[in-house]
Amino acid sequence: MGTLVKITAVARSESIAQATATAGFAEIHRLEELLSTWIPTSELSRVNTSAGVRPVSVSLDTMTVVQSAIQVAEMTHDGFNIAIGPAVDVWNVIEGWRVPTESELEALRPLVNLHSVHADTREQTIFLEKTGMRIDVGGIGKGYAADRAVMAMKKAGALAGVVALSGDIKTFGQLPGGRKFPVGIQHPRKEGEVLAFIDLEDEAISTAGDYERFFERDGVRYHHILDPHTLHPARRCQSVTVIAREGIWADGLDTGIFVMGAELGMRLVETLPDVEALIVDHEGSVHVSSGLRNRIRKP
Ligand code: ADP
Ligand code: MG
Repeated sequence: MGTLVKITAVARSESIAQATATAGFAEIHRLEELLSTWIPTSELSRVNTSAGVRPVSVSLDTMTVVQSAIQVAEMTHDGFNIAIGPAVDVWNVIEGWRVPTESELEALRPLVNLHSVHADTREQTIFLEKTGMRIDVGGIGKGYAADRAVMAMKKAGALAGVVALSGDIKTFGQLPGGRKFPVGIQHPRKEGEVLAFIDLEDEAISTAGDYERFFERDGVRYHHILDPHTLHPARRCQSVTVIAREGIWADGLDTGIFVMGAELGMRLVETLPDVEALIVDHEGSVHVSSGLRNRIRKP
């Protein structure tokens, strides 16, 4: 999934702990084979190459990720949109460092329409209506992988642990001695500086930021989270951290809320049970949801 994965396991013995970590990594590899668009034979790659041609049968995992992504799109007023693939390609922020022209972006509009993604639960197929469409689950897949890796670890006998796919982290149980898992939230403009600490127990945390994958041109920062409405990098936030029970929601929502901005995003968070957020807006002001205020510690 193009990222560093770290697993921590608590178990009755070191060998069990090792085995549970191995089970966690194996689960992540399994999902990568389904969801990665870097792997040409993955299910999602097949869905993408069959765009405009035919529906593709997919596993329950792929179906779950795509359906959840569609739900997050509804929740975030289309701030989250996995049909964004062609626009991600044309910016190619990760390797290409180029600013596409307005006409290039306009030409992509019909291809980034989420309503042209048909996820048929009965047939368990996904069909992209138009040739050239491409779904990209980069904004939600790591959270799902963390959830599933935790399930695999529990099944293998882990008592507690952490699965971290860079900024997408899922914890379960407690550390020996009954302590919760402390995590730090990175300052979006001061490298290596922690904005706040929070203790997690059976929760996932995920951060979307403009500070890891970006380039600058003429003093403007271009980064990898695109606003589906403008097809330009989203401008309303510097970083969005979401805490939820499941990684799939934490990961999907961080990207979607990043596009929505602090005001609308925080309003959404306050309506969702078991979802909290820390948002750094475009001016660097920090917004904390009501359920998180007395849980965060300043460094
Ligand atoms: P990461 O942990 O890789 O930074 P994020 O959760 O921040 O992941 O999501 C960013 C990724 O999501 C991008 O690299 C791209 O693949 C995809 N993406 C970009 N913009 C959107 C969007 N508006 N909706 C859904 N996915 C997006
Ligand atoms: Mg995300």
